[in-house]
Amino acid sequence: MPRPETLAPIADVVVFELPSDDFVPTSAAAAAPSALPVELRVTPTPPTGEGRRQAAAAAAAAAPQARVRGRDRARRTSRPAWSERRAARAAELLHVDEDAQPVRHARPRLLTRRIAVVAGLTAGAALLMGSAAMTAMMLPPATDAGPDAAVTMTAVQPQKVEQLPVPEVSQTPPAADLCALPDVVAALQTGNDEGAIVAAGGGEAFRAAVVDGRASCVDLGDSSRIWTVVDKIRAANPIDYRPSGLVLPDGVRNIEGGALRADAASALASLVTAARDAGVGEIALESGFRSYETQQATYGRHFAERGEGADQVSARPGYSEHQLGLGADVVACAGACGTLDQLAATAQGQWVADHAWEHGWIVRYLDGKTPVTGYTAEPWHLRFIGPELARAYHDGGWTSLEEFFALDPAPDYAG
Ligand SMILES: [Zn+2]
Repeated sequence: MPRPETLAPIADVVVFELPSDDFVPTSAAAAAPSALPVELRVTPTPPTGEGRRQAAAAAAAAAPQARVRGRDRARRTSRPAWSERRAARAAELLHVDEDAQPVRHARPRLLTRRIAVVAGLTAGAALLMGSAAMTAMMLPPATDAGPDAAVTMTAVQPQKVEQLPVPEVSQTPPAADLCALPDVVAALQTGNDEGAIVAAGGGEAFRAAVVDGRASCVDLGDSSRIWTVVDKIRAANPIDYRPSGLVLPDGVRNIEGGALRADAASALASLVTAARDAGVGEIALESGFRSYETQQATYGRHFAERGEGADQVSARPGYSEHQLGLGADVVACAGACGTLDQLAATAQGQWVADHAWEHGWIVRYLDGKTPVTGYTAEPWHLRFIGPELARAYHDGGWTSLEEFFALDPAPDYAG
């Protein structure tokens, strides 16, 4: 079907002189249906070269009686009435065709298709460029200007995002040294360890300051402080250190008559009372303060029995928390009291593990921490560090005092 926009000027219209029912079209294009009357049908754009000559010859053979007048302007004008009517009719039909719905929309549709194709190509190109950018970001940077240099330059270009200005992040200024706080200094001077920690902002703030080196007046080796650390590589200072103010804890069943530092004694009484009030049962103090001399005798006895194996069950003199007055071995009682080893299996033992921190105590030697603490699990051995530090220890999920203060592990004695 010839497209309307390819219609030849009216002068080129091929007119069959004697249309008849016997007319046989010579091509599929000529046979195609047409809205035009037979006499106004338009020949399709003829093929070129040999094809055109063959078509003309075939047309002549099939319709020898037809005379082609399209190119003979003189003869056409010799019959003006007939030609003018045909021209008018053709012009009218052509005009109608031009405005016909399919024609009117043909170009917009074509244009739309072209736009769609262009858009598709553009999108494809964008994807290719994006893919190239991703590939370039994953590839190592070019190290020389070899043959791939041009490709690399093109591919790296989308990385301009890295050239965006980096927003300035204001850094939090480091906190001042705890010892610049007058309240901390005052508490330390009066031996009020717990008060110093409170003045420092609490247990965690105190711990963080120590770990960060912002506590120049805090000495973890000072045996008189509740934050002191004694283990197999950190001896008491002096090694025969003896705390002052040892007292017997009030209201606590005391099997050996052990004493504790006053603050620790008060805290143990609080713990025992709380357990009783919770219906857990009675907790008794098995062993409290042990002097350097006492520890010499105790360790000497174990050493005589076990040799070096004594270190597995007894601290050497000068290396025991009991010498600080801050260590307490507790047992569970129900009428009679159990042994140290039996505590863990009792309700009191479970309660101690869960609630001792609320009274300033921690279970110092936990199962699995031997490489750090140097001791196998001792669920009965409590260490007083004060309510503030104990809360920070508990809330932080710490399992050893060495790690709490970021100290080296102490699996064994140095020599
Ligand atoms: Zn102990």
